[in-house]
Amino acid sequence: MRWSPSEEQDELRRTVRRFLEETSPTTEVRRLMETPEGYEPGVWKRLSQELGLPGVHVPEQYGGQGLGFAELAIVLEEMGRALLCAPYFASVALATNAILNAGTESQKAALLPALASGESIATLALTEPSGRWDLGGIELQAQRVADGFTLFGEKSFVPDGLTADRIVVAARRPKTDGREGIGLFHLRGDTAGLERRPLTTLDPTRKLARLGFRGARAEPLGEVGNAAAALEKTLDQAAALLANEMAGGAQRLLEMTVEYAKTRVQFGRPIGSFQAIKHKCADMLMSLELARSSAYYAAGCADESAKELPAVASLAKAQGSDAYLEIAAEAIQIHGGLGFTWEQDVHLYFKRAKASEVFLGDPTYHRELFAQRTGL
Ligand SMILES: Cc1cc2nc3c(=O)[nH]c(=O)nc-3n(C[C@H](O)[C@H](O)[C@H](O)COP(=O)(O)OP(=O)(O)OC[C@H]3O[C@@H](n4cnc5c(N)ncnc54)[C@H](O)[C@@H]3O)c2cc1C
Repeated sequence: MRWSPSEEQDELRRTVRRFLEETSPTTEVRRLMETPEGYEPGVWKRLSQELGLPGVHVPEQYGGQGLGFAELAIVLEEMGRALLCAPYFASVALATNAILNAGTESQKAALLPALASGESIATLALTEPSGRWDLGGIELQAQRVADGFTLFGEKSFVPDGLTADRIVVAARRPKTDGREGIGLFHLRGDTAGLERRPLTTLDPTRKLARLGFRGARAEPLGEVGNAAAALEKTLDQAAALLANEMAGGAQRLLEMTVEYAKTRVQFGRPIGSFQAIKHKCADMLMSLELARSSAYYAAGCADESAKELPAVASLAKAQGSDAYLEIAAEAIQIHGGLGFTWEQDVHLYFKRAKASEVFLGDPTYHRELFAQRTGL
């Protein structure tokens, strides 16, 4: 498969980049990361109404633009580049895809238009205090009652879990384990029996929350207890998309670093004229190019629902995580080995890189998945 951008895709990138340069400079990122909500509702409204971004890959019959994962990947790459503080990844890359993959026709028709228009913001609650990203780590229980289901258990590291007005939850039928008995449910954020509290985390640009389910009523998405494949597909798509978001952040870091090396003078010459610095920048570029290629390829596989997606998504996630973190660490060195200070924007990216490394599973986990999925 080949993936090279079309004229329309280039135009989409330019439009999103212009919008984010205006609305998400790092001064704004620094302001928003200190707020409990972690995003600016006015910017969310504009990116929804003026650009239609929450519905970019949602089919037109559900109120979206009907484009694909390649376009969604471009949007996320640009958001990663701008370190946009917004519940976009949670609502679009996770919850919307979970509903598209698991929901019945009538559930998609009922839920997706509000998500595609940005009026509603959703998230996916998967991980629990164990921090596991595999389906075997799901312990939260869905119990059948007379007229529906109630949920009991804890979810942690839920992106934008404090602010989302709809929560998609991965649960299991009592007395099941592994992939068996997995169900996806959804409920409103203000449902009785749902407790939400913010988590203090390394990366304040992406808010995480812990959710307690104490008998909260929820509606199943699709067939009850048969959501393992839909959930795995959602996670593979999200891993591919996160790889693109990371590539965008790494690209911006490299640009900032090369710019700095050309202007910072030491020993009477710009530090970028020293071979040691040139070599580091060249290595950063090589690492970025490899990560970006695998991220684009994975997005292309998500578009075509190719059989390759599970393996390629894991490869892209592992490679993207390593590249972003290495590039962030080298960027700090070239900025003069600043140590840990907030003076430079590099540190904002370093923390996003570190948090993204473990979000959706770390590189070791994804290399293991890659090995299993390719039969190595
Ligand atoms: C941010 C920063 C902080 C630093 N801090 C310190 C410090 O605290 N203390 C300290 O002592 N030093 C410091 N340095 C200096 C650093 O040690 C020197 O940059 C290094 O010693 C020079 O090696 P280089 O790899 O950068 O080579 P370059 O400076 O690029 O080149 C070294 C020499 O080799 C020549 N050369 C390069 N390539 C070729 C080629 N292909 N063929 C022939 N000749 C070539 C150059 O003309 C030059 O004379 C610092 C440098 C930087 C960038």
